[in-house]
Amino acid sequence: MRYIASCSFGKDSLAAIDCRMMHGEPLDEAVYCRIMFDAETSAELPEHEEWIYSYAIPLLKSRYGINTAIVQGAYSFVDCFYTVYTKSKTKNGQIWGFPYRNGSWCNTRLKVRPLNAWSRRAWDYTQIVGIAADEEKRIKKKTVKGKILPLVDYGIVEAEAFDICRKAGLLSPAYNGGRHRLGCWFCSNQRISELRRLRKEHPLLWNKLLALDKDSPVMFQPGKTVMDYDNRFFAEEAQLSFFDSAGAT
Ligand code: SF4
Repeated sequence: MRYIASCSFGKDSLAAIDCRMMHGEPLDEAVYCRIMFDAETSAELPEHEEWIYSYAIPLLKSRYGINTAIVQGAYSFVDCFYTVYTKSKTKNGQIWGFPYRNGSWCNTRLKVRPLNAWSRRAWDYTQIVGIAADEEKRIKKKTVKGKILPLVDYGIVEAEAFDICRKAGLLSPAYNGGRHRLGCWFCSNQRISELRRLRKEHPLLWNKLLALDKDSPVMFQPGKTVMDYDNRFFAEEAQLSFFDSAGAT
């Protein structure tokens, strides 16, 4: 039996790998799903992407002897966004646009299907999953035959997963500034503070998201377009610079 860790290179999956190795339990390989926004642009924040390839993958190999398989699906987020409905009773001819909050297509199309296709070729294995001991909903879903949850088995909660990664030199720089979760930079489930940060720190990515806004039949978030957020953040900045200049006089 082989043991393969699903690894997003976030704190929980890396803490699960470290925890398993520290307890002398077998782990043969890691598998990482590379989601793409479009043909050239990764779904990862650039600082996370850079860290994964230049630091984390080599470190898993040199420290733990673990190779990382990189799985990439055939379709990007933009490919799916512009897919036209052909078998719908009400939407034929319309493009998918942004994923709905409930029943979103992105996780299934961009991650689950490519990983399932890979796992069918990976023979028989047990999956090591990084879910912290205080993530009750996710634990229920993932407590199934063929999966091991090391952080749950050892009672390690999310805050402790941060500490484990910090001590092991395995914490992505994308967690700086108080960020608690990593995900696709274009995710519509992220907090407003993260969207504000994306616009400020990665304006080119923000502009890519804005460019989709006008074509989407589905609003980015319920009742909110990307442009709504752009206007809001612009107004906030204008107000701040007004107070700054008023304070300076
Ligand atoms: S992080 Fe967000 S955009 Fe990416 S697959 Fe998950 S739900 Fe979809």
